[in-house]
Amino acid sequence: MKILVAEDILKVNKDYAGEIRAELKKRGITMLNLISSPGAGKTALLEKTLAAMEGKYRMAVIEADLYTALDAGRLERQGVEVVQINTRGACHTDASLVGQALKEISLDGLELIFLENVGNLVCPAEFDLGEDHKVVLLSVAEGSDKPPKYPLAFTEASLALITKADLLPYCPFDVKALEGDLRRINPDLEIIQLSCVTEEGIERWLDWLSTRVARKLSAAG
Ligand code: MG
Ligand code: ZN
Repeated sequence: MKILVAEDILKVNKDYAGEIRAELKKRGITMLNLISSPGAGKTALLEKTLAAMEGKYRMAVIEADLYTALDAGRLERQGVEVVQINTRGACHTDASLVGQALKEISLDGLELIFLENVGNLVCPAEFDLGEDHKVVLLSVAEGSDKPPKYPLAFTEASLALITKADLLPYCPFDVKALEGDLRRINPDLEIIQLSCVTEEGIERWLDWLSTRVARKLSAAG
């Protein structure tokens, strides 16, 4: 009998992720892995971002969901190529599934891939998917106590987006305490507070994004 424990699975995953990273590096394509609990606004932010970046970058989306293609349908309306991964109930996606999804995308001339992970703040943080950056979203409606409760997602991320900032007047959300927790957990983490309703912070997010894409493209020569 052969028993695979989590450590082996993560090692195999790491190898797949390495292959993806090498391929995307060669092509100068930036890939961002969006992680959050369900309902933090990943898809809404992608709708906004795809619309704002239309004509600037050639983009594609990989959507990971348990069963549906609801979010993929929303994003396809933005006119970009969208590949759906259905994890059949699994609470995260792994690098082998992302590798399969990438085979379905025409990568020639592509500059930016958004990977919307399964809504889950726990295990998606453990899986390297070959992305350039993990971006973690935390909505004002969820409460500001998430970083100490789910530290790994915030340790692994390069950027934290505090979403639905338009709800701040209505929610007991302590921005100062949150920022303190985030700095303690990950001193290098960048933080942007934004709202897709009022557009607060959207410009900063788009600048962050553009800087990463330009850097990756120039590194690929
Ligand atoms: Mg979504
Ligand atoms: Zn999982």
